[in-house]
Amino acid sequence: RECVSNVSHELKTPITTIKGFVETLLDGDLDEQEDTRKFLGIISKHSDRLNAIIEDLLSLSRIEREEESAGIELVPGSVDVVLMAAVQACELKARDKNITLELACDSTIRARINPPLLEQALVNLIDNAVKYSDPGSVVGIEAVSAGQEIRIEVLDRGCGIPTGHHERIFERFYRVDKARSRNLGGTGLGLAIVKHIAVTHSGSVSVQSAPGKGSTFTIHLPSP
Ligand code: ADP
Repeated sequence: RECVSNVSHELKTPITTIKGFVETLLDGDLDEQEDTRKFLGIISKHSDRLNAIIEDLLSLSRIEREEESAGIELVPGSVDVVLMAAVQACELKARDKNITLELACDSTIRARINPPLLEQALVNLIDNAVKYSDPGSVVGIEAVSAGQEIRIEVLDRGCGIPTGHHERIFERFYRVDKARSRNLGGTGLGLAIVKHIAVTHSGSVSVQSAPGKGSTFTIHLPSP
């Protein structure tokens, strides 16, 4: 019940906005080209938001469904291959903001993984690092083998997160700054998906962050 209520609440803002601007356009003088273009831009942005929320919800439910049915298959694999694929997927968005993605991973590091899911988790973390960093900065992606665990870290020097929020940011739809997240095209579901995927790998996710200093998100996986 809580989930339905949260989802409905999240969908309501973009739908109300789209409806409002469509009605304005229908009622108005469509010869005002500049306004028409502006309103269509707003409608387009909010449709993208709706789409992003639905995509993320479908991802979450797909993972849950697979877990319940056959279980998620984990196979021994190279971590660096997954890291490279995730970096490649984020390269364009990073370049748009003039942000450099720096990858450091020993090719010998292996773990029991589901490569597409792990890639999705890393894409979400890198995407956030890019979103919450200033143009021109650097985002690091590193994997290290440390005793009983493999640690995959995504480091940024962006706005950072006050300690009081660290526990809650992995909850569905929790955001530190709602307006900022929405402006950046966020859904509030990215980190919930990361956490789910980490747990699916018998691992966990943690955060170290301070306002103004940046953030480091770490996926901990058991050593094979
Ligand atoms: P969103 O789509 O809003 O980014 P997420 O679930 O990915 O949703 O993240 C939840 C919240 O955690 C974000 O709204 C933001 O406040 C905070 N956050 C996540 N990653 C970072 C980061 N790298 N730097 C600063 N804040 C972050």
